[in-house]
Amino acid sequence: MNPDTTRLARARERMGALGVDVLLLSVGPDLPYLTGYEAMPLERLTMFVLPVAGDPVLLVPRLEAPRVEARPDLFVLETWDETDDPVARVAALAGSVGQVAIGDQTWARFVLDLQRALPGAEFSPAGRVLAPLRVVKDTAEIDALRRAAHAVDGIAAEMRTRPFAGRREIDVHRELVERMLEAGHERANFAIVATAANAASPHHEPSSRVIADGDVVLCDFGGTMDGYCSDITRMFVVGEPTAEVADTYAVLVAAQEAGVQAATVGTPCEAVDAAARRLIADAGLGEHFVHRTGHGIGTEAHEDPYVVAGNLTPLAAGHAFSIEPGIYLPGRFGLRLEDIVVATATGPDRLNEAARDLAVVG
Ligand code: ZN
Ligand code: ZN
Ligand code: ZN
Repeated sequence: MNPDTTRLARARERMGALGVDVLLLSVGPDLPYLTGYEAMPLERLTMFVLPVAGDPVLLVPRLEAPRVEARPDLFVLETWDETDDPVARVAALAGSVGQVAIGDQTWARFVLDLQRALPGAEFSPAGRVLAPLRVVKDTAEIDALRRAAHAVDGIAAEMRTRPFAGRREIDVHRELVERMLEAGHERANFAIVATAANAASPHHEPSSRVIADGDVVLCDFGGTMDGYCSDITRMFVVGEPTAEVADTYAVLVAAQEAGVQAATVGTPCEAVDAAARRLIADAGLGEHFVHRTGHGIGTEAHEDPYVVAGNLTPLAAGHAFSIEPGIYLPGRFGLRLEDIVVATATGPDRLNEAARDLAVVG
């Protein structure tokens, strides 16, 4: 990721509008979004101090300073030594402030210490400032999401030629992780492999269950490539599917298509959810679609906007999100189909292109 000064300027503009005096960012995706630097998720405090006016400072433990790419246009780098008190350093940098916005994923122990070190300051989540900026992807971000999507598309295509029967869920899981790294992801974030009745649990942990003839196999996998996430779900069946599996899958494909087609600029997120849900409900399977239709995606695997009932946010050009309805029949089987979609002025742009039919495998 290669942020420029416009992100900082926009963040400050929003801080001004919200009355936020200083933004404090530690671990999590907001820091790299503004500075290009990702904090190590360790016990030593890293903190970016962005006052609404004045010089931004990135304070890191001295031993981690070599990891930081200097960006004099974005921040002054300062370090703290093992015997320093980093919380006192942050408090001094912040000065006397009334409104502090602090990174949503900052460790609670640092938040508590900072609250003690800045008495009188009111703390609120940094998401108030940054989520509305991060949710609209620029061209470079959409290109990165598309490259990540195409990388996992290739894996989904290759898996159609692989044998499944006789292997354990965990073996297929490992193969997916390895293939994501080979395909250029720096990180594999998850690889759900859920077979037969296990697939009725949407977030099943891959087990040592051996895949057998007739099994439905759900593969939901994604990682991070050049800072941006992929996330795809494709379905496989060992041998010809039963009529019930085939019919249920046809309902799912139609529901997913309806969700994608509904994802136009100006449509509220909840209407997209409803569009997909309606087809599953009409087939009498509504109670078996037990989660939201989708989630935003970017530097985080799950972020705004959430495609869920109750979210009235209208889609805007540059919103990127999954459309992933599922049908889960406890004790029997489960099905899900997932693509990443970007809302654009000319309609929904589906980033994933891998075949969506139920792949018959050996
Ligand atoms: Zn999920
Ligand atoms: Zn997924
Ligand atoms: Zn997803």
